[in-house]
Amino acid sequence: MCGQNCYGCRVKFGVEVVIHHCRACGYGYCDSCSSNWRPVPERHWGTDAVRVCNACYDVPPEHPAGSLTATVLYCNFLLAEIMKL
Ligand SMILES: [Zn+2]
Ligand SMILES: [Zn+2]
Repeated sequence: MCGQNCYGCRVKFGVEVVIHHCRACGYGYCDSCSSNWRPVPERHWGTDAVRVCNACYDVPPEHPAGSLTATVLYCNFLLAEIMKL
């Protein structure tokens, strides 16, 4: 588990950036990259909404294999946004 940087935007965790774990994929994310909540019954979290990363929030639960692709696409999207700044 890569615990030093956000798996989404690669920001370094520390005092100001708290790590949150996506309940669907299990990776560590900063607050803004894991601000979505939805039930994750496929990971045995039951029917209550739990914290998930942006990529997992966009992926239908019946296609867990697609989460990696979604994460990659999301990273590319973030990179494109950063390049605009
Ligand atoms: Zn992040
Ligand atoms: Zn996730």
